[in-house]
Amino acid sequence: MSDVLELSAARAAELVRARELSPGELVSTYRERAERDDLGAFLWLPDEPPAGDDGAATPSDAPLGGVPVAVKDIFCVEGTPTTAASRILAGYLPPYTATAVERLASAGAPMLGKTNMDEFAMGSSNENSAYGSVRNPWDRERVPGGSSGGSAAAVAAGLAPWSIGTDTGGSIRQPAALCGLVGLKPTYGAVSRYGMIAFASSFDQCGPIARDVTDAALLFGALVAGGRDPCDATSIDLPEAVELPTAERLDGMRVGVVPELSEAAAIEPGVKDVFGAALGRIEELGGAVEEVSLPHSEHGLSAYYVLAPAEASANLARYDGVRFGLRAEEGDLLSLYERTRAEGFGPEVKRRIMLGTYALSSGYYEAYYGRAQRVRTKIAEDFAAAFERVDVVVTPTSPSAAFRLGERTDDPLAMYMADYCTVPMSLAGLPAISIPAGLSDGLPIGFQITGRAFSESRILAAAYALERAIDFDLAPARRAPGFARAEVAAR
Ligand code: GLN
Repeated sequence: MSDVLELSAARAAELVRARELSPGELVSTYRERAERDDLGAFLWLPDEPPAGDDGAATPSDAPLGGVPVAVKDIFCVEGTPTTAASRILAGYLPPYTATAVERLASAGAPMLGKTNMDEFAMGSSNENSAYGSVRNPWDRERVPGGSSGGSAAAVAAGLAPWSIGTDTGGSIRQPAALCGLVGLKPTYGAVSRYGMIAFASSFDQCGPIARDVTDAALLFGALVAGGRDPCDATSIDLPEAVELPTAERLDGMRVGVVPELSEAAAIEPGVKDVFGAALGRIEELGGAVEEVSLPHSEHGLSAYYVLAPAEASANLARYDGVRFGLRAEEGDLLSLYERTRAEGFGPEVKRRIMLGTYALSSGYYEAYYGRAQRVRTKIAEDFAAAFERVDVVVTPTSPSAAFRLGERTDDPLAMYMADYCTVPMSLAGLPAISIPAGLSDGLPIGFQITGRAFSESRILAAAYALERAIDFDLAPARRAPGFARAEVAAR
């Protein structure tokens, strides 16, 4: 069993295809561990473990080999509780399945369970879930990051081989960084958003969270494999097929370092050290490191925290107590709406709805929404100018390592700072990957590589070469003491 746990998902799929590992054993290993989840990573597991033979192909021949995937609870799955970690969706059973989940199942990755998250994906620590926080397996007193915190904690602790999350302003990359994992936010439009509960529709993207770059590439390839999804008007065909990375060198690659995002005062010294060491590795691998400026990127957070709440306030208007989930007992229609929303939404979601509604109100629309849109354009132009000179742009993923549970819950602005390095790419719709680059005080630090739109194969290739040079060890997260105790108790 522990041998199975040591396998990457790609390797496990390979062994299944070679008939050297039974998909049943693989599924039951992870199922048993997920059942003993003591991190709060899972919100729902099926009564029966997935058979491992969902989908079109038999698992033994399917590209993903029957390796089960943990799914953030923001993805609708037909007949399966789907809450987006909100009380307002308690009891909601979607009548259809998200394209992402369907594509993975037919490629041979059945759903292992649904993972915890910040309510409606609003947060950076997973502490905004209506169903409790998630603990970071590296240090159980610390957050796993958010909003895809359950998807990250589950993979890091070895409760799931890999997972999918969503990223609006950093929610795949930042929890991946804080848990020592690889997280890819694809180019906007690359992966279908159909069946993904909307937060800020012009930002939201689905992507993989995995143990290593190869796993992330494999899962991403399956997510985009069917091409454009007619059910999502913003989805498009990837111009090139996703390549599994193999190159071990970075010869000739021009790598841009952004002083605004890597030297800012908000970046902790330990993060700067690990980041600097990774730049050294890039040079050893033959990459040419030079400075590129993204002069407007420091305004990214301000623009994001106007635009994302504005879109959220419109998207969340549909939760009225009539159509989905929770319904407050009340006499007339207006108070039914009011009571349902008052009882159903948590404080951060209410804050965003109020901010967004205010920013869109007629007297202030130009001053806030209009101005934030112009900043968004400037940031996209900054990236375009940078990519005239370099092939990829690199930054730390998060200004800090995993922080303590409760440390930032009373200070929304401190919480929002966690997105400082990830939000500019989201505003520009660009693909970005976070890989673990080392430890600071025993906690993982992420390194972010951003490329031009639809250059996923290129950033995966760069990440792969760097990953090999860094040789990060994820095993300590799987041996986390709390989990070890649970394992002993279960014997
Ligand atoms: N932390 C950011 C927010 O709260 C990003 C969340 C996300 O990417 N879903 O909005």
